[in-house]
Amino acid sequence: MPAAYRFAPLIFSAVLATTLAGAQPAANPLLSISPLPLRYPQFDKLRDEHFAPALDQGMAEQLAEIQAIADNPAAPTFDNTIVAWERSGRLLARTTSMLSNLVGTDANPARQQVQSDYAPRLAAQRDAVLLNPKLFARIEALYAVRDTAAPTAEGRRLIERYRRDMVRAGARLDDAQKARMKAINAELATLGARFNRATLAEVNDSAVVVDSAEELAGLTPAQVAAAAEAAKKRGFEGKYLLTLLNTTIQPFETDLQNRALRERLHRASVSRGARANANDTTAIIARVMTLRQERAALLGYATPAAFVLEEETAKSVDTVNALLRKLAPAAMASARQEAAELQKVIDQEQAAKKQPGFTLQAWDWSYYADKLRAARYGFDESQLKPYLEVTSVLERGVFFAANQLYGVSFKRRTDLPVYRDDVSVYDVIDSNGKQLAIFIADLYARPSKRGGAWANAYVSHNALEGTEPVVANHLNIPKPPAGEPTLLTWDEVNTLFHEFGHALHAMFNKVPYPSLGRTPRDFVEYPSQVNEVWADWPSVLANYARHHKTGEPMPRELLDKVERARRFNQGYATVSYLSSALLDQRLHQLPAGQAPAAADVMAFEAKVLKEEGLDFGPVPPRYRTPYFSHIMGGYSAGYYAYIWSEVLDADTVQWLMANGGLKRANGDQLRAKLLSRGGSEDAMVMFRSLVGRDPRIEPLLERRGLVVQKP
Ligand SMILES: [Zn+2]
Repeated sequence: MPAAYRFAPLIFSAVLATTLAGAQPAANPLLSISPLPLRYPQFDKLRDEHFAPALDQGMAEQLAEIQAIADNPAAPTFDNTIVAWERSGRLLARTTSMLSNLVGTDANPARQQVQSDYAPRLAAQRDAVLLNPKLFARIEALYAVRDTAAPTAEGRRLIERYRRDMVRAGARLDDAQKARMKAINAELATLGARFNRATLAEVNDSAVVVDSAEELAGLTPAQVAAAAEAAKKRGFEGKYLLTLLNTTIQPFETDLQNRALRERLHRASVSRGARANANDTTAIIARVMTLRQERAALLGYATPAAFVLEEETAKSVDTVNALLRKLAPAAMASARQEAAELQKVIDQEQAAKKQPGFTLQAWDWSYYADKLRAARYGFDESQLKPYLEVTSVLERGVFFAANQLYGVSFKRRTDLPVYRDDVSVYDVIDSNGKQLAIFIADLYARPSKRGGAWANAYVSHNALEGTEPVVANHLNIPKPPAGEPTLLTWDEVNTLFHEFGHALHAMFNKVPYPSLGRTPRDFVEYPSQVNEVWADWPSVLANYARHHKTGEPMPRELLDKVERARRFNQGYATVSYLSSALLDQRLHQLPAGQAPAAADVMAFEAKVLKEEGLDFGPVPPRYRTPYFSHIMGGYSAGYYAYIWSEVLDADTVQWLMANGGLKRANGDQLRAKLLSRGGSEDAMVMFRSLVGRDPRIEPLLERRGLVVQKP
C-alpha cells in the first residue's frame, strides 16, 4: 500500500492550492501561534509541504530546549527542570497533532508520506530525550526531595511521572544496555510496520472469488454489483469478489444463504496470516514477543504484561486475569445457551424444508442469529431512522444533555476555516458565561477518512500556556444525496454520545500541568461510555427524537423493542472478545525465553483457549493471533481495557440512576471528581471519590445479561 501511494499523483484540495501568482511563498502557519480564537488551526493557510519543515524545526527546537535544561549550571528546581520540560516541544507537538489529525480525517498521499518518513525519526527523538543522562540526573535529584521540591501534590505527582517515564524508557541502564534498548526499539518499529503491511495485504489477498450470482443469494443488488465491480478490478471479469475486513467474522456471513460459501468465506478469514506465504505474520509475532521479553527483562520486569500493566488502572497481571476469568465462564454459559437456541432454529428450518439437519458452526452463527433477532423482537432499523435526524440528535440531544448536566451551552459559528465543507464548528460556553472550548463536529464518511469513530484535540488545555481546548469528534456517517436529511441508526446515535463523552473529558480538563492530562488506557473509555446513558434518557430522547418531517415524537414502544434486543447475542459477543483479550494477556505474560516459535504460534493459541475454557468452535476469537493488530500496536497487553472501562462505566451509571440521573448536582460531581482531573490523581481514587466505594462487577453482568455460576 505505501509503495502505491508513493507513485500516485499528489492531489491537493482546492482550498490548499491558493498561492497567488508571483507572490512570496505563503508563510508556514505551523511555525507561529495561530491568531484565531483559542489558537484554532489555520486550515485555510496550511499546505502539505509545510509539514516537513515544521517537523524538522520542531525536532531541532525540542532537542535544543531539552539540552538547555540538562546543561543548566543552576541546581535543579521544579521550575527550571520540570516546568521547563513541560513548556518545551510546543512546535513539534502542534505539528504532529495537526499531521496525525489530518491523516486520520482527510488523508492524501503527501500527508501519508510525511507521516511514514518521520515515524522512525520521531521514535529516535523520543529515545534521545528520555535517555539523556544529564536530564535524568536532574530528575533523580528532584525525585529524592520531591516532598519539598514540588509546590503542590500535583507537582509531586508530575516529578514522579517524569521519573517513571525515563526509568521505563531505560534511563537507569548502562551505556551498552541503552544501546541495546535503542536497537530493540528500532527493530520493533520496523517489525510493527511489516506486520501492518502484511496484515493489510493478507486481507486483500484473501478475498473470495465467486463464480455465479446465484451463490450470492441473500445479498442486496447493490452488494452483488459491488462484488462484480471488485472482481473486475482484480482481473476476474464476469465473476464476483467478496472482500474481507480484519475481524474474524465477516459481515457477509450474516446475509449469505449459501452455507458452503459462508464456510469458504469463514475459512479464508481465519486462516489469514498463518499460510506460510509472504504475508505470514507468525515469524514477526514470535520475534516481537522475544524482543518485548528482552526489553521487559532489561528493565527488571518478569514479563512484558507486567511492564505494561504497571502503568494502567488495573496495575497488575493478577487483577486483569481475575477480571477476565470471572467473566469467561459466565459469558461461555450464555454463549452455549444462545447456541442451543440457534440450533433449534436450524433444526426447525431444515425439517420444514425436509432437508438433513446439521450442527451449528462458526459460519452459521450470525446468519441464524439475525433470523432469530428479527423473529423475536420484531423491529427493523428503518422504523427508527426518521426520528433520528443528525442535527437534532447533536444539538437537541447530545448538547442538550450536556447543558442539563453541566450547564454548558453551544453556539454554532461559521466564520472559522474548516478542512472540509461538511465539518461544523461550535463555541462551547461555560455556565459562568466564559468560553470553555471550541468543538468541531466532523461526522460524515469520506474516502480520505479512516474507519470508525474517535475524538481528538487540535489544542489542549494548558495552564502554563493559557490555552483552552479545540476538540473534534469524528464519525463515519454515510452522506445522503443532496437535499436529503441525514438520518442516523441507533448505533450511530450511541456513538455520537460516546465520542462526545471523550470531548467533555478534554473540555473540562483543568489540570495545572499539561502532562497530567494523560490518563491510563484502561481508564480513557470510562467517561465516554458513561455519556452513552443519556442517549435514551426519557427527557433527552423526548427533546431530540422527533420525526424529521412531521415533528412527532418517537413512539415509546419502538424504543422499547430496541432496548429489549440489547442483551441479545451478548454471550457470543463477550466470548469472542474475551478470547482475544486472554490471548493477548497470555502471550504477554510469558517470561523471557518462552515466546512460541513461529511454527508454534497457532498451537499456543489453541492451548490458551482450551485452558481458559473458551475453546468453543461456533464462537472463535474476535481476532486470531496472526491478524490481531491491537497486540502489535498500542494495545499490547491492553486489549482488556474495553471491558475494564465498562465495569467502571456500568457501575457509575447505577450510581447516577440512584442519585436522580440527569441533573446539575450529578454533573457537578462528575466534573469536579473525574472530568476536570485528567490523570492528576490515581484513577481508582477518582472512581472511589465519585461513587463512594470500590467498583463492582455486577452492574456489567446485569447489562450484558451474564450470570456468574456458583462454583
Ligand atoms: Zn471511545
